[in-house]
Amino acid sequence: MLLFISFAYAGAIQRGINFPEKQYNKILLDNQKLYPRLWGIVDEITRNDVDVYITHIKNGSPGRTRGNHSISMNYKTFFRASKNYPEGRLVVVMLHEYGHILFNRNKNNKDATRTDREYYAFKYSVKRSLTLANNGYREPIRQLIRHLPLRLKHGKKGSPHNIALKKLTQEDFWLDTIKQYGGTHR
Ligand SMILES: [Zn+2]
Repeated sequence: MLLFISFAYAGAIQRGINFPEKQYNKILLDNQKLYPRLWGIVDEITRNDVDVYITHIKNGSPGRTRGNHSISMNYKTFFRASKNYPEGRLVVVMLHEYGHILFNRNKNNKDATRTDREYYAFKYSVKRSLTLANNGYREPIRQLIRHLPLRLKHGKKGSPHNIALKKLTQEDFWLDTIKQYGGTHR
């Protein structure tokens, strides 16, 4: 019966090509306990038909999106207990990459520029972090408030990332976010 064919596709967490199996298994075992919030987001994303690869990324960026169904996470930045990359920041990176996927899936965005794509991904990460904050988990939005202006300041002038961030950080939406969550209160 055709009626029963409709169901949601699910992706999975995957090991990148040439990424050592032992290391991959250790990450899955240790990191899911260490960063439950991050892996909650990964779980949501894989349920929405995205494969999340744990792998090497040559240029050192924390994440990368390909097409409509594939996100790669750099094992280095994601799976190291580090002061510079606390869990909230990793959540933000993951949401940014997922924002790229959602943007790519919209057929109307086929001819969008790289700046449009980055703008959408950054804004998506802020919106989702605001929702998390409104539900009591404030670390991601506080990481964004700290790091987006820094990234704009130190990023390459005229690059898609920088143009997108410049636009975003001038919007009322962003200024309201800082007003609400940028104080010293936790
Ligand atoms: Zn991006």
